[in-house]
Amino acid sequence: MNEFPLKTKLTAPNGAKKVLLHSCCAPCSADIIENIHRAGIELTIFFYNPNIHPREEYEIRKQENIRFAQKLNIPFIDADYDRDNWFKRAKGLEMEPERGKRCTMCFDMRFERTALYAKEHNFDVFTSSLSLSRWKDMNQINECGIRAATHYPGLIYWTYNWRKDGGSARMYEISKQEEFYKQEYCGCVYSLRDTNLWRMKNGRPKIVKGTQFYTKATSS
Ligand code: SF4
Repeated sequence: MNEFPLKTKLTAPNGAKKVLLHSCCAPCSADIIENIHRAGIELTIFFYNPNIHPREEYEIRKQENIRFAQKLNIPFIDADYDRDNWFKRAKGLEMEPERGKRCTMCFDMRFERTALYAKEHNFDVFTSSLSLSRWKDMNQINECGIRAATHYPGLIYWTYNWRKDGGSARMYEISKQEEFYKQEYCGCVYSLRDTNLWRMKNGRPKIVKGTQFYTKATSS
């Protein structure tokens, strides 16, 4: 892989020497993984994303993440596909727009599980790749992360702005280099529905899952 400039002075809160990274997918986490790894901080990837629908899509996203973790020899924790609980918590929030209350629930659920794992496995700091995407509300994600951390004294949610220092551009660069699967909707069945509605309104075909990949020639 090509070398790239490291983020300046990347140090975890309180100088923590190990960090648990909640990863939503390979494209969003790759730059973060590389930066934390190369800063000499011990890293573990935690994949808990019961929101992703259907299972086939979940498996593709997870496998892409595993492939990248193995390449860098970074431990990868494959947490449960807790789909039924996710749908239970999403009840009544089906029509919420992206960045609305359903997304707060979705971030809360994923971070609660990540925080529990962090506590049980002696991590003092956890963070997430969710905030890398420019489609997401970073403040909303940070609030959820901080809320999850407060359940455990001493645990910190690292609110680092992973988009800065070219993080977003680097996401595309690594995705092309690694030819990652290119997901075309956020993840849940409702985001799939809304993205397809938008596409139809704009004269575009519906999403065909499992078919799009970044290529070295992809323009970002
Ligand atoms: S749109 Fe994305 S963040 Fe919001 S509930 Fe669905 S999967 Fe979760």
